[in-house]
Amino acid sequence: MEVCHCRYCKKIFRSTIRRTCCNECREKDDKFFEKIIAYLDMYPNSNAIQIAEGLEVDVTEIVRFIDEGRLTVVKGDFLKTDKGEE
Ligand SMILES: [Zn+2]
Repeated sequence: MEVCHCRYCKKIFRSTIRRTCCNECREKDDKFFEKIIAYLDMYPNSNAIQIAEGLEVDVTEIVRFIDEGRLTVVKGDFLKTDKGEE
């Protein structure tokens, strides 16, 4: 079992896999994830930064889904885009 920390309600909970969202907040999380998928349907080549800007959320919110392995589409682009711009 892994000790997890909910990103929404900050609750500590246990899960068989590492997660950042508890069961009570999962619906919220799924709705947010659906928005990302819908955005990628419209703009298939978006990286994490563009998705974050399009949905007006922090880029770390998008990166969390990548870290969890739920969002793999944008990973390569994001890592490339993240370097050398500053
Ligand atoms: Zn929660």
